[in-house]
Amino acid sequence: MSDPNCIFCKIIAGQIPSKKAFEDEHLLAFHDIKPWAPVHVLIIPKLHIASLADIGPEHEALMGRMLGLAPRLMRELGVTNGFRTLINSGPDGRQEVYHLHMHVMGGPRPWSQG
Ligand code: AMP
Ligand code: ZN
Repeated sequence: MSDPNCIFCKIIAGQIPSKKAFEDEHLLAFHDIKPWAPVHVLIIPKLHIASLADIGPEHEALMGRMLGLAPRLMRELGVTNGFRTLINSGPDGRQEVYHLHMHVMGGPRPWSQG
């Protein structure tokens, strides 16, 4: 369910501070500590799943929730001109934190990356 060595599990547990943008029973969204864009949030499941490569049919509803939250959050955070969604998976996908997360980025360009 959770991994005691995982930084995002620690954020979920409140052991590491974060700037939260949304929370419910299944999901947490918080602002990325090194934003690429004026608005850059990470949407994560509360369940520890290391990577998108590890999901199965039992996670379909959860994945739907993550994707469905993105446009709602962007609207709430005042993003009106489009946004990017990104999931990095595994070493070649440049995944750094091994707790599944979706980047959602928006706001006026230029951005520092992306
Ligand atoms: P990825 O390369 O997709 O695994 O990206 C991991 C993301 O997590 C990076 O954009 C980091 O800036 C972000 N990150 C790492 N630690 C924290 C933290 N404590 N709070 C917020 N964002 C974080
Ligand atoms: Zn975790």
